[in-house]
Amino acid sequence: MFCYQCEQTYRSDAGDGCAGSKGMCGKEATTSDLQDLLIYALKGIGQYARRARALGAPDAEAAAFIPHALFTTLTNVNFSNTRIVDLIQQAAALRDRIKARYEEAAQKAGQTPEALSGPAAFHPAADMEGMQKQAAAVSVLAGQDSVGADVVGLRNLILYGLKGVCAYTYHAQAMGYEKDEVHAGLENTLDFLASDPSDIGTLLNEALELGAVNFSTMELLDAANTGTFGTPEPTSVRVTPVKGKAILVSGHEFKDLLNILEATRDKGINVYTHGEMLPGLAYPKLKAYPHLVGNYGGAWQEQQKEFTEFPGPIVMTSNCMIEPHARYRQRIFTLGPVGWPGVRHLDGKDYSAVVQAALALPGFKEDAPEQRITIGFARDTVLGVADQVIAGVKSGAIRHFFLIGGCDGAAPGRNYYTDFAEQTPQDTVILTLGCGKFRFNKGEYGSIGGIPRLLDLGQCSDAYSAIVIATALAKAFNCSVNELPLSLVISWFEQKAVAVFLTLLSLGVKNIRLGPTMAAFLTPNLIDVLVEKFGVQTISTPEADIAASLKLAA
Ligand code: SF4
Ligand code: SF4
Repeated sequence: MFCYQCEQTYRSDAGDGCAGSKGMCGKEATTSDLQDLLIYALKGIGQYARRARALGAPDAEAAAFIPHALFTTLTNVNFSNTRIVDLIQQAAALRDRIKARYEEAAQKAGQTPEALSGPAAFHPAADMEGMQKQAAAVSVLAGQDSVGADVVGLRNLILYGLKGVCAYTYHAQAMGYEKDEVHAGLENTLDFLASDPSDIGTLLNEALELGAVNFSTMELLDAANTGTFGTPEPTSVRVTPVKGKAILVSGHEFKDLLNILEATRDKGINVYTHGEMLPGLAYPKLKAYPHLVGNYGGAWQEQQKEFTEFPGPIVMTSNCMIEPHARYRQRIFTLGPVGWPGVRHLDGKDYSAVVQAALALPGFKEDAPEQRITIGFARDTVLGVADQVIAGVKSGAIRHFFLIGGCDGAAPGRNYYTDFAEQTPQDTVILTLGCGKFRFNKGEYGSIGGIPRLLDLGQCSDAYSAIVIATALAKAFNCSVNELPLSLVISWFEQKAVAVFLTLLSLGVKNIRLGPTMAAFLTPNLIDVLVEKFGVQTISTPEADIAASLKLAA
């Protein structure tokens, strides 16, 4: 096993990366190895799917399979060897079918089909032991001795960004939204990685191209969310429990939240959001359900404590899942790409087991003291008051915007983001998104001319909203996004954050502050490139970073 795809990876003077028998996230070595093998098999699909698409024969099954299968390999998603083995076998069978499709399309076009090798010719071993031997040859560090750590680091930057794009694609697909451009981008990237690229310039360009694909994907997901559930609107949300039977829905998949709300309609069960599901409470079609009563808990890393205390079933619709404690293992369910050995997995159609569990469990015995926060400041809401915002900036009432967004995590150093938000001057506005906000979203920040100082844009994919807002403001001020009085302070944890980071770079956004630490897969040379080309910097202290941001913009 070797894995260094997330911020939580094991770090030591001897080198960074989870190795040995288990990762810091609880992922077993066997699971990690099988996931490497699954990625290898997916590259083979990419090789043929790209060529078939180029000949006018795109494959719908590949378009559905790639995002789902790669999603299972993100941090804190799927820990089930059985499920990963099944996906490897499915991948090989699908690759064979797409190969035939490509060869037929080539013959029809009067071309000789290419004879492809590497992942295109992969055949999974018949048993686990054999698969583990195969995995050893395709680890994320494969080839490092010959091509060097910079090349391997860049390959993995692209791979991890690709995983993030796949997660967003999967969420959009759940609501029936597809885009050929996105599927072509996924297949092209897999095919590119299958070629074991080693030219630094080519790899950097590919990373930026993937960032552009991710922008298109986030745009698609935004259309899927708003097209299905309406435009998010400012909403006062209860964050303390009410008396009654209860179900907790965590993860990012709003479609699952909708399905659970339907399955519990008129059954006397209250539904709560958790973690990245919180923004669901701002969508008109979701908040219209009276039994969607509020949000319970904070970011993912607190789940063992919070789920233990929650008196009902919990449903994990996507990341971030950590090992279920025995005290709630019997009442947690997984959906879609998520899996944990021995935890009941729902098929996404039948929710009766969750409903029965909610009715059988005690629920909350009484109302907790009411506490509320306001969410739902996505692009339309903020741009709806654009005139006020622009007037505020012109008059000096709004001196600066800070986007404090991204993931949360358990590692020390993340208090930086709480302290940063609390120390922002009163004449500045905070935009936030992702689960990192749980560190500061219950604070009192006040408002400037009727505009709340803390604007919660939503999930991490709502970086799209942030980009639309920033672009509109830049247009209004006749300047570039980099010239706006705006600083980006990003907390990263896993691979969706990598995808968003690449998007920002592809759009030419500079001077991003990243934390709490730089990614382990970025070598010192690669970090130098990011610093020189894009002004990327690591966080220091809130005081120094706020002062530097305000000075730079002055
Ligand atoms: S996902 Fe993160 S914590 Fe888990 S094994 Fe990989 S690097 Fe380690
Ligand atoms: S924003 Fe990132 S860290 Fe937070 S729940 Fe989502 S995937 Fe996990």
